[in-house]
Amino acid sequence: MTQYVWGYLPEYEKERDDILDAVDTVFRSGKLVLGPSVAAFEQEFAAYNGVEHCVGVDNGTNAIVLGLRALGVRAGDEVITVSNTAAPTVIAIDQVGAKPVFVDVDRDTYLMKIDQVEAAITDRTRCLLPVHLYGQCVDMAPLKQLAEKHGLPILEDCAQAHGARHHGQIVGSFGKAAAFSFYPTKVLGAYGDGGATITSDSEVDARLRRLRYYGMQDVYHVVSTPGFNSRLDEVQAEILRRKLTRLDEYIARRRLIASRYEEAFAGTDLVTPRLAPGNDHVYYVYVVRHPKRDQIIETLKQHGISLNISYPWPVHTQKGFTHLNYPKGSLPVTEEVADEIFSLPMYASLSDVEQERVVDILHGVLANL
Ligand SMILES: *Cc1c(COP(=O)(O)O)cnc(C)c1O
Repeated sequence: MTQYVWGYLPEYEKERDDILDAVDTVFRSGKLVLGPSVAAFEQEFAAYNGVEHCVGVDNGTNAIVLGLRALGVRAGDEVITVSNTAAPTVIAIDQVGAKPVFVDVDRDTYLMKIDQVEAAITDRTRCLLPVHLYGQCVDMAPLKQLAEKHGLPILEDCAQAHGARHHGQIVGSFGKAAAFSFYPTKVLGAYGDGGATITSDSEVDARLRRLRYYGMQDVYHVVSTPGFNSRLDEVQAEILRRKLTRLDEYIARRRLIASRYEEAFAGTDLVTPRLAPGNDHVYYVYVVRHPKRDQIIETLKQHGISLNISYPWPVHTQKGFTHLNYPKGSLPVTEEVADEIFSLPMYASLSDVEQERVVDILHGVLANL
């Protein structure tokens, strides 16, 4: 039985010489923390995203935490985001003591419904936090208009969208700042944890650098609190530098896999991803929808294919978030789609043979529902 669960091993076998060389390069550099690899990666990743600064941090959650703090979000402030996201988006808001305020998502793209944002703005709103979920960009033009009208900074959650574009512009370059995760499964993944916050504002950049380094400006001199130890590791940074040169290839491979799924399931009642106008999707996850989702997943499991759901429980319905006071029914589209969505295997190293097998079996299952 084949388990179609993402693993980095096929990729490692292909890229092993380069990855081991990256590790050796760092070990021989004489500098294991905040050394030349982090500095180089920061420059290269900023350039890739068309922004001035990149600050490497220890993971994507802290990339958001530090981003919020650097933008001035404090305890008691409100941050507008979505409940259809990875829990860490909301955990990060909670971390700084701010209150997440949710708007619903679009039924077709599963992304933030921009026309609900303005009604959610209060005098305590301090930041807008769109999530480019699954690898597709939120409709940024109207969101930016709102942000400007109300004098609010935008922090983009780009953890699932490295390299995605919206009318030609790359994600992470729209807002005041943007947060990335390099968790191993992500479109650009490290061999362990990693993250980055990017910005073109040098004030924000300076704050981010202090925040990740105990609040210190110069070594041993703390100039602001709270401080954190949230540094990107040298080894991960050097591996990420190597992989960044291949990021466009990974994305091209994901798009090819997506186009094959799209073609294979056209004419069936499986709802494949819909792209909003102007969007170049990077397919971090390939999310499909069907009212008999649970039955489909169960049958595929019997064939040795286990499928993920991103995400089975919207954040506001999870036990740990009951204090947010969003009762069931408060975000109807988010809740409705959560019962029907599931993800087909999607990663750059998925082989043609593996994908064909998934397609064949799922076709059979759909025909016999
Ligand atoms: C993965 C992810 C995060 C958190 O990143 P970590 O590196 O796992 O801390 C945040 N937001 C979204 C949307 C994610 O997918």
